Amino acid sequence: MSLPKQTPHFAEINLSALKTNLRQVRAQVGNCPILAIVKANAYGHGAIPITRFLSRHGGNIKMFGVAFFEEGLALRSAGIQDPILILTGCAPEQIPDIIASELTPVVFDVQTLKAINQAAVKQGKSVRIHLKIDTGMGRLGISPGEVRAFMLTVRSYPLVVLEGILSHFAEADLYDLSFAKKQLSIIKTILADCAREGMDIPLCHLANSAGILHFKSAKLDCVRPGLMLYGYSPLEEPGPLELKPIMQVKARVIMLKTVPKGTPISYGRTFITQRKSRIATVAIGYADGYPFSLSNRGIMIAKGSLVPVVGRVCMDMTLLDVTDAPPLAIGDFVTVIGSEGSVSMWADQVATLATTHLYEILCGIGARVERRYIHTEEGSDSV
Ligand SMILES: *Cc1c(COP(=O)(O)O)cnc(C)c1O
Repeated sequence: MSLPKQTPHFAEINLSALKTNLRQVRAQVGNCPILAIVKANAYGHGAIPITRFLSRHGGNIKMFGVAFFEEGLALRSAGIQDPILILTGCAPEQIPDIIASELTPVVFDVQTLKAINQAAVKQGKSVRIHLKIDTGMGRLGISPGEVRAFMLTVRSYPLVVLEGILSHFAEADLYDLSFAKKQLSIIKTILADCAREGMDIPLCHLANSAGILHFKSAKLDCVRPGLMLYGYSPLEEPGPLELKPIMQVKARVIMLKTVPKGTPISYGRTFITQRKSRIATVAIGYADGYPFSLSNRGIMIAKGSLVPVVGRVCMDMTLLDVTDAPPLAIGDFVTVIGSEGSVSMWADQVATLATTHLYEILCGIGARVERRYIHTEEGSDSV
């Protein structure tokens, strides 16, 4: 690989694989509009390049979803003009800027709705909002009983346009969908009540990746994939899917040594070599999102071989026992997340070893890890 020698580590992000995953969303939902979730730096993959790519190649991607105002503003500053939904709503002081930059807030309380109306009147500019309803996640949203009054209030504000209503699944990833079905039926009842009263039924959306993959009747007017775009399934029992993880993380070998049996390795001397060992020091640590809990538990890939992490993971470095791997040289890169030949250590496998959540591993890849974007597929740009 022709990389500048000083690069300690990098994340290689395959945009062709992102396209493959988008095709998989389509295979599940057909032409249903897509609200692509790019919060948390696009799950660690780089919000601006990912959003730009999806915006250019996305076909039925109707909108992008971020968690916070600042994330939406960063996309706007990068020149992205597509609709952007702010999933966690907004603080009062952000409202004027949200309207000015044409971001779409999720709203879940009447006070914020009023403040949005006032700011819209002041700017003489209309604003679209989505209303969040809590159907069982217990996190954000008004209760189903409050929907009617909320919608009537919106109706009295000519500059506030209720474009969408949404809710969120608590456990559509489980094999047992009974709770997800309950959540869907609450939404369907609300839609039916609104229709009966002649209230405009806006775009209604509910399905995250788990809903898309596992609960077809929940797709409604729009779907909100996050994880599956990045190539992983959230399902408890993933079926045969053609999702491809789009990010690999590599770290450089910066020291190699052969040490005798009985040599302590890293902070706290939690590992003592049990034989004459070849130890590689690689340039990635918990500051880069390689969890400390992988101390003496993690596995990386060196020259196509799985090699164990020995001793404690440090802030900037991790140590590997490469005694049984093919010969390595200083400057070689090991695979921290990814695959080499038939051997793999994808983020879901890393999460299992670290006894954490797959999403946390992806989002946790640190800011100092350089993202490199590649295409592995030539030809048509359409998805
Ligand atoms: C993060 C998020 C999603 C995407 O979830 P995935 O499981 O990654 O598909 C969808 N909707 C909301 C409201 C979210 O916060």
